[in-house]
Amino acid sequence: MAPKPLVYNATLVQRIDLTDALAIFRIQPDQPAERNARGAWFTAGQYCVIGANNDEKPELGSVRRSMSIASAPEDDGPIEFYIRFVAKPESENPLTHLLWKKKDGDRIYLRPVAAGVFTVEDTIGAADPRLRVMVAAGTGSAPFVSMVRSELRRDPKADLSKYVLLHGASYDQDLGYRDELLGLVETHGLRYWGTVSRAKDCPAWTGDAGRVEAYFDPARLADLERRLGLPEGGFTPKAAAIFICGLQGTIGTTITNLVPRAFVPDQKRVREALGVPAAVPSNLFFEQYDTEPVIDIKNPAVTEPLRAQMAAALAKYA
Ligand SMILES: Cc1cc2nc3c(=O)[nH]c(=O)nc-3n(C[C@H](O)[C@H](O)[C@H](O)COP(=O)(O)OP(=O)(O)OC[C@H]3O[C@@H](n4cnc5c(N)ncnc54)[C@H](O)[C@@H]3O)c2cc1C
Repeated sequence: MAPKPLVYNATLVQRIDLTDALAIFRIQPDQPAERNARGAWFTAGQYCVIGANNDEKPELGSVRRSMSIASAPEDDGPIEFYIRFVAKPESENPLTHLLWKKKDGDRIYLRPVAAGVFTVEDTIGAADPRLRVMVAAGTGSAPFVSMVRSELRRDPKADLSKYVLLHGASYDQDLGYRDELLGLVETHGLRYWGTVSRAKDCPAWTGDAGRVEAYFDPARLADLERRLGLPEGGFTPKAAAIFICGLQGTIGTTITNLVPRAFVPDQKRVREALGVPAAVPSNLFFEQYDTEPVIDIKNPAVTEPLRAQMAAALAKYA
């Protein structure tokens, strides 16, 4: 039986198409959310649930999906989301296909509360002095955009040099928010690098090439350390905490690349598979947009070498 139609409670006030498959959606809820004493209605890094009814095929009913919030918690006005059209969806009623039919002024469903613990506050804590290395693939940059925007809403002169945003996409035009982020490099000390995996097809691109997780290839770590002003071998949990947002490939490869530096993923079953003692704190956090296991922990050919690397790394760095 098709689920009951959703009662729309928000309006899509603006849709900005960055490419055919990437768009910023600005959605205004009918009822303003409740705010805390400092004017925030959520914590940067959280997500909301967006939904729509399938009007063309009502028998398919409605669909709801989680979407990271890209606007700042302190912002007035519409809530912003950065969304990819999923060309090969898994479900028969994909939300992104309904969203791509919507235009400015159309009605939509937005669950009026934010959720999730992929926040600085819920992970390392706001007072943590370490670098916050934000690893984003595609639309996975949304929570990080919210975090830096929130810093600026709270203090327009905020020093953003603790934030290191690494953003990967297939093509240069897919690097959403690039102008805003480059501006913050100039004005607020943000460390931001974009990288494109199809650099050969991007004639105007002069930045980094490759997938975002490749910044942590053992052979490239020294370069990252140089960019961050760290000594060689200094990219460890003493200097940085890692936040990754996107699909399994980005998360899994970043984890495996950083095991030799003693970065401990914040997921119980992965920690256990890697033999991390319970007392060792996690320092690599992730928000996953798909459902593939980030690491194939059932496969000893995968876990055994990682366990050995982790034990050696913890002895050396932790
Ligand atoms: C906490 C959370 C936050 C999310 N935030 C965002 C966001 O800010 N922006 C966003 O675009 N998506 C986000 N997603 C993914 C989103 O919820 C949907 O899975 C996605 O939009 C596809 O939904 P669909 O109904 O169109 O396709 P479905 O038929 O439901 O297909 C789902 C599959 O699409 C794939 N997929 C999901 N997201 C992407 C993506 N970005 N690029 C390529 N393939 C993808 C995955 O394999 C996933 O299993 C988030 C997911 C979670 C769990």
